[in-house]
Amino acid sequence: MGHNQGRSHSEFEFYPYRYFAAEGFLPGFNFPRLPVRAFIPAGEGGDFISRPRTVALREFAPSNIVYYEGSKFMVTKTKVPVGGIESEYQRVSVCFSCGYFHESDFPDTCQNCNAEIKPDTYGNLARLNRVLPMETAIARRRERITCDEEERLKYGYKITTHFRYDTQKQESANVQAADGTPLLKLTYGATAKIWRINRGLKKNTEERGFKLDAKTGLWGDNKNQPSTENLHTEVNLMVDDTCNILVIELLNVPLENREAFITTLQYTLETSIQAVYKLEADELDSERLGEGKYLLFWEAAEGGAGVLSQLLEQPTTFQKIANAALDICHFLEPKESCVQACYECLLSYRNQFDHALINRHLIKPWLEQLLESQVIRQFKGLSRDEQYQKLLAQTDSNSNFERTVLQEIYQRGYKLPDAAQELIPEANCKPDFIYKEQAVAIFCDGSIHDSPNQRKQDQIERDNLRYNSDYTVLTLRHDEDWQAILVILADV
Ligand SMILES: [Zn+2]
Ligand SMILES: [Zn+2]
Repeated sequence: MGHNQGRSHSEFEFYPYRYFAAEGFLPGFNFPRLPVRAFIPAGEGGDFISRPRTVALREFAPSNIVYYEGSKFMVTKTKVPVGGIESEYQRVSVCFSCGYFHESDFPDTCQNCNAEIKPDTYGNLARLNRVLPMETAIARRRERITCDEEERLKYGYKITTHFRYDTQKQESANVQAADGTPLLKLTYGATAKIWRINRGLKKNTEERGFKLDAKTGLWGDNKNQPSTENLHTEVNLMVDDTCNILVIELLNVPLENREAFITTLQYTLETSIQAVYKLEADELDSERLGEGKYLLFWEAAEGGAGVLSQLLEQPTTFQKIANAALDICHFLEPKESCVQACYECLLSYRNQFDHALINRHLIKPWLEQLLESQVIRQFKGLSRDEQYQKLLAQTDSNSNFERTVLQEIYQRGYKLPDAAQELIPEANCKPDFIYKEQAVAIFCDGSIHDSPNQRKQDQIERDNLRYNSDYTVLTLRHDEDWQAILVILADV
């Protein structure tokens, strides 16, 4: 569409790199998924330009100035969806202690960290009723920008980042020093959601969010056509994303230089994970959440690089990462000219706003502890004992044999099952124990399974499971040498 139809242009050629830097953000090519578009009027028609979602959240935000082919345009409008603006609003409550978000239900405490849901120290509200997923923005030509507008835009927008785990797709592990001191708590979330919310201009202290005419899609007070009934206040803009994430909770952080320590650690871990797993810089990104207590890492590449889940699998993973980190920070081969940090170690164009905080010397003793660390896996956030107790409680109260088998698995130190008596819907069947990831179903046949009728029924049920699902069926009979068969689980 538009006056220069047919001309091929890359999405970014219009944008001087310097402009991004001046506005306080950089072109993060982190989210190549579904960009957000803005319509720029030109001549009879106009052009659509598009940006990665996280970039669009600021750049195509209300009243921002977009530079295009040498002219200035102001974002004035959002596309009104067919069903109207009202139906698009989402409600959310967020925990500022860890960054977790809750859709539709508004709990008093966070479902992830149990902290009280309350505004943050900057006065950002925890509960929002009008969160508008970002739609195509519409800009208008604006040759002159008033001093007032310029002043307000200079400080940028209030953006907060939040995440939410996908149901049942969470794995936890602790990283412990050689003396048992906990260093990190790791929680991996496959296909987790990340929400970024634009809560309005930073400079605009008297109001929260944006004003929006819900009928026309025009942003702000439309002074020429006062129509108060359609004017919505406290509208927040949102972009979402689905990706694999790793949330790292920092434990035993020194109180002195806390912020600098955490910031340095953030970029050190990011850079070393990239080095160990041979990732490109744009494949793994990170952010500090919950006033620095948590680090959020995400696989920014399309489809994910599949690295974050691996960090929990081997006990020695963080020894390798520590070794890479000590090397990157010039502690293996000293570099005299690097004082706190340099572009060869931890500094990059992307983290320029944190440069003053980054100091490799702060984390050296911590990295040395990490060099001797062990990754200890947890089950769905439960310890091994807790998982064992949970499974015991889930077993069929009529079957002692089930509990005998579970006890044997526990005592031999094998991986504990994920669930007991849980329905596998595709086969309409409840095995006694299941390992979900490995798709192993265990049936424990005590004496009540001895009758011919019951045997026949069991056979049908288990054939059905084999036929309708990927599960491998493992049958343990009380009157056979089931202890020998159980050895199979040593490899799970
Ligand atoms: Zn929380
Ligand atoms: Zn350096």
